[in-house]
Amino acid sequence: MGLIVQKYGGSSVKDAEHVMNVARRIVETYDAGNDVVVAVSAQGDTTDDLIEKAKEINPNASKREMDMLLATGEQISISLLAMAIEKIGRPVISLTGWQAGFKTDAVYSNARISRIDAERLKNELDKKKIVIVAGFQGLNKYDDITTLGRGGSDTSAVALAATLGADLCEIYTDVDGVYTADPRFVKNAKKLDDISYDEMLELASLGANVLHNRSVEMAKKYHVNMCVRSSLNKNEGTFVKEVNKVEKMLVRGVARDNDVARISICGIEDAPGRAFTVFSLISQKDIGVDVILQSIGNNGTKDISFTVKESDLEKTIEILESNKEVIGAKEIKYTSDVSKVSIVGAGMVNNAGVATKMFEALYNAHININMISTSEIKISVLVAQNDSERAVNAIHDKFLLD
Ligand code: ADP
Ligand code: ASP
Ligand code: MG
Repeated sequence: MGLIVQKYGGSSVKDAEHVMNVARRIVETYDAGNDVVVAVSAQGDTTDDLIEKAKEINPNASKREMDMLLATGEQISISLLAMAIEKIGRPVISLTGWQAGFKTDAVYSNARISRIDAERLKNELDKKKIVIVAGFQGLNKYDDITTLGRGGSDTSAVALAATLGADLCEIYTDVDGVYTADPRFVKNAKKLDDISYDEMLELASLGANVLHNRSVEMAKKYHVNMCVRSSLNKNEGTFVKEVNKVEKMLVRGVARDNDVARISICGIEDAPGRAFTVFSLISQKDIGVDVILQSIGNNGTKDISFTVKESDLEKTIEILESNKEVIGAKEIKYTSDVSKVSIVGAGMVNNAGVATKMFEALYNAHININMISTSEIKISVLVAQNDSERAVNAIHDKFLLD
């Protein structure tokens, strides 16, 4: 008996039947004597559908109005889920993000939670109610609705668990847990029993969207006991925690990120300060840059290539084109037809053989590597988007099949 926070994703509440299934699972936890707080996402593809609706009217709508719109999706699911629990006959109340006290910064469409004023939540729990909270949303200092970025309901759940000091934060989704790669297209992917915060954070940031990366960051910071499991069966799931009790595997997982674009600035004068000029122009506009590659100077010029999020491509090209003279570039090339494929594992530090093995897997699959980037815990390569599924499978099977 204790306090349990559960989170149910869009696929787990996609229709009436699924909502009733989730309601029964919540009631089971409640009937076992626990206090239960639940964070819920919008049903099925609701968020995508809302984005489409907005595009029909104004593809350049302000982020404030987008957040106003997108936050409605979660309001539908909290009320429906509360109704389902009422039907089973347990005390329940649904709360929007702002009713539940979620305060965020003012970055519309990608806000960070600054705190949760938990008074209302605690009052409802004192009344022995099951509390259903809308994920993904909060209120900024201007009293405007904000959303936490795609997949942000996971972060709502972890924030609730951290604030309320929950014994466990369960993330319910449409797969049995965290796998060695996305089981949707890697047939040999295996479920992990546990994974460290650091490894999970890296995988999530590199495209394994089974968890919102900020949820992992927060779980690590506040020592939240977290697990990922399926809402459709009773299987054990994957625990995300501080240290791995299992022996350290060299590579824990493979991730793919399609939301990547590559930009090359060619024929820049080979002189000090050029890279500084390019990247300060870009960072002034709050655009994040990832893998960076600079060629060795040739005939007094050099090339700089780097990646940005696909959604930032247009803006970045605009900045570069309008500053072509300042940068002193001959040509700016770009493509969004690329994917980043990464391997992650705390055990790969100082092991040179890991990179070789990864490149060998790609060579055997006849896949060309565009760019490479390494850190202590991961190696990423940029490949053609068309090749990315094969790349993930080839790398996965080389490292993770025994
Ligand atoms: P929810 O709606 O429950 O939040 P998501 O679609 O956000 O669900 O996340 C679950 C999906 O994450 C899975 O269906 C799976 O395709 C994908 N995924 C990507 N990488 C992994 C991985 N390493 N392990 C498990 N699932 C993964
Ligand atoms: N509904 C939001 C989304 O689709 C948040 C979430 O599902 O976590 O991104
Ligand atoms: Mg999700």
